[in-house]
Amino acid sequence: MKLTVLGARGSMAVSEKGRARFGGATSCYMVQAGDDCVFLDAGSGLLSAPVHFPKPPLILLSHLHLDHVLGLGMYARLLLEGEKTVICIPAENDETARAQLNGLFSPPYWPVALEDYRGDVEIRCAVTPMQAGSIRIESISGNHPSGCRVYKLSCGEKSLVYATDYEHDEASFDRLTEFAAGTDLLLYDGQYDEEEYLRSKGFGHSTPNMGIELMERCKAKHLLLVHHSPFALDAQLLLRQGLIDRSNVSFAQEGEVLSL
Ligand SMILES: [Zn+2]
Ligand SMILES: [Zn+2]
Repeated sequence: MKLTVLGARGSMAVSEKGRARFGGATSCYMVQAGDDCVFLDAGSGLLSAPVHFPKPPLILLSHLHLDHVLGLGMYARLLLEGEKTVICIPAENDETARAQLNGLFSPPYWPVALEDYRGDVEIRCAVTPMQAGSIRIESISGNHPSGCRVYKLSCGEKSLVYATDYEHDEASFDRLTEFAAGTDLLLYDGQYDEEEYLRSKGFGHSTPNMGIELMERCKAKHLLLVHHSPFALDAQLLLRQGLIDRSNVSFAQEGEVLSL
């Protein structure tokens, strides 16, 4: 499998100076295995994604907070006649999934529903375990205001776990440790530094140190910290990275490609 970081910023897209290295686009990760493609979330990073694929891609949403869905409205693939794209949402059923996404992408918030774009757009609820070609998808619930799914994508012997918008808590931590056991790549919400976290408890995000604790407990091979604060400058993220000083822990950079 190959993972491309299309957007690693959390909460709000940013374009101010001093953030170009880690990037300003919000959550979107492209996972490819041969001809199969799964997008994890559809933040503004989705705008940099390719539009043509050998097989229809699956867009898998962790939850519907705006920073994880806003890229959908301007993703050019959805305008290509006859091209199929499936969008899967954590919801009780397909009807609820469609109502939730169409509720956001419809007047007065957006001019046209995604299902009315020229492309063949299908909105479904995410039922796991499921298969996207050769990619197996499993999920558990995380800990985040109004909920968020943690996904595991596996292909052959390799796996990655996507734990964005997750706040460390004892109740879900054991479940997450077991779910992520031995994974090759752990994407984890490292939005806050320790001081910011004290001010932001209950907002649904964690710190790099919490990610390292999980990594050590579940014996993940690499920790990729994601969902960077919109306020964090490149210099601050580089400083945090330097203090951690481990070759298998890094902050995700927009445009970066990791092979498993
Ligand atoms: Zn978010
Ligand atoms: Zn969120």
